[in-house]
Amino acid sequence: MTRSITELIHHAYVPPEGFEAPQPGVFKASTVFFPTVAAMRSREWKDKTAYTYGLHGTPTSYQLEERLCTLEGGQQCLLVPSGLAALGLVALSLLKSGDEVLIPDNAYGPNKAIAEGELKGWGITHQYYNPMDPQDLEAQISSRTKLVWLEAAGSVTLEFPDLVELVRICQRRRVLTALDNTWGAGLAFAPFNLIPDAAAPVGVDISAHALTKYPSGGGDVLMGSVITRDAGLHLKLKLTHMRFGIGVGMNDVETVLRALPSMALRYRAHDEATRALALWANAQPEFVQVLHPALADSPGHAHWKALCPTAPGGAAGLFSVMLDPCYSQDQVDAFCNALQLFRLGYSWGGPISLVVPYELASMRTGWPAHLERGTLVRFSVGLEAVEDLQEDIAQALQVLR
Ligand SMILES: *Cc1c(COP(=O)(O)O)cnc(C)c1O
Repeated sequence: MTRSITELIHHAYVPPEGFEAPQPGVFKASTVFFPTVAAMRSREWKDKTAYTYGLHGTPTSYQLEERLCTLEGGQQCLLVPSGLAALGLVALSLLKSGDEVLIPDNAYGPNKAIAEGELKGWGITHQYYNPMDPQDLEAQISSRTKLVWLEAAGSVTLEFPDLVELVRICQRRRVLTALDNTWGAGLAFAPFNLIPDAAAPVGVDISAHALTKYPSGGGDVLMGSVITRDAGLHLKLKLTHMRFGIGVGMNDVETVLRALPSMALRYRAHDEATRALALWANAQPEFVQVLHPALADSPGHAHWKALCPTAPGGAAGLFSVMLDPCYSQDQVDAFCNALQLFRLGYSWGGPISLVVPYELASMRTGWPAHLERGTLVRFSVGLEAVEDLQEDIAQALQVLR
């Protein structure tokens, strides 16, 4: 991974003649001029060696696409206006009436909402599988299964699945896999190459990434990417992307390009602080369970350990706690309200720590056996001093004592 971090910084970029600055320029366009009618007719919009219209990209967006391919180990990349749009684009491009999609029960909630809303209306069925039980996934694959979503670690509850085994099952059954790679971000593991020295590559077909999180890093940009390693698969996604006109703004692209070189450093800092806080939280009596893949008793810890670096940089900046069921929802809300540095707000990956209480029972098909009963609160750890964050949680716990 070290190599790709360096490549992310020393990335091939040809500056304009006589202006060799480190950052690529912001090229904005709807219209692109052609010298002749013949050139207009012959230029192919799908071909990245030329420019035809702003929606299909400018030198700025091509640059970000290339750098994201470097980050995740992919070959082709599409940029979309949000992480959720990336998930939607995959479904919209690859599924048709009569098909079925399998989604892990701990998936990012709005991805489930796409299946329960639009996809259902279009005659595309879905099933939720237990991500911690590969046999459950295998048993649910049928001739109608055209796509399997994967997520590591799972949203909110942060269980780490046996990703290698899940991918192997799908490869054997010839079903496309799409990973929501927002948590790993291209840093914790290589989505297209899960086993570095395997004879045949073991990896996902598609990596969807909410660039809104770590690549942006500021809590101020919404963007998503869909990365592939197969030209035919990319073309399918690209045609839908073009037909629906879901391009991105170049000022936003520039913001992500600017943040990308520091991403690995930030990710490691988020990770280090999060592990320290999760360990400390594990010793607090109000929390009956702490969920973070690097904790030895967190669900899927062994799978995380087998796939990711155990040193800082191998996990993202999230951990969740299960508050003892003896506390009412009002008390848990009061705990969250009492936090000063952890602000109430969605998303993660920015410098400011965030907290969200969740009603887990309404988000799952059933209460997972590996989770203690209680009220779940998720922390997203920013870049503040970790002692201050720990002190903040400690003072907020006073409302329960
Ligand atoms: C935030 C997030 C998304 C969606 O990203 P947006 O840019 O907010 O739409 C998708 N998947 C996961 C796992 C996320 O955390």
